[in-house]
Amino acid sequence: MRELEELNQEIRQCTRCRLAQGRHLAVPGEGPEHPKIMFIGEAPGFHEDQQGRPFVGAAGQFLEQLLASINLTRRDVFIANVIKCRPPENRDPLPDELAACRPHLERQIALLKPKLIVTLGRYSMELAFAGVSISKVHGIPKKVGDVVYFPMFHPAAALHQPRFRSLIEQDIMKIPRILAELESIKAEEEPPKPPQQLSLF
Ligand code: URA
Repeated sequence: MRELEELNQEIRQCTRCRLAQGRHLAVPGEGPEHPKIMFIGEAPGFHEDQQGRPFVGAAGQFLEQLLASINLTRRDVFIANVIKCRPPENRDPLPDELAACRPHLERQIALLKPKLIVTLGRYSMELAFAGVSISKVHGIPKKVGDVVYFPMFHPAAALHQPRFRSLIEQDIMKIPRILAELESIKAEEEPPKPPQQLSLF
């Protein structure tokens, strides 16, 4: 899609905030142009900054395992971040950096039109669940307009604190059912097709 490639180029050349100075490569995100599911993480880390691709380090390996547990690969979904450039020493993004990068993410969502947005960690969770604790809402889908948001803990949390691993593994297992429900809602909304004429007579 031309608009998506133009947006990726803009992101790669973006200088809207201080993170542009320290980055090696910006990381727009990657995946199919018409994904059913979009995963949104926090920000690129060392390996992502080196390669210009999202989730290619240790957290990414765990994300790929999680996807495999529901019979998906990273090629089936779009993967992006709230922040497109690596913060120094992987520090938390600052409010003005989040605000500067937000239009990129909003344009991505508008172009990609995913049915389901899985937020990984508290920064992307803010898109649909402002001001609540991730411990309270993880694993509970919420419909906002045409999109269902599904908040999960960040996969890196499981690498630092093993108690998060099983919570994350349980939450991801809910995704196939959410998708199936979305499909059935869509089928109900579509007007029934007129009966087909048989051309033999
Ligand atoms: N963590 C993120 O949030 N995003 C990445 O791309 C990698 C690690």
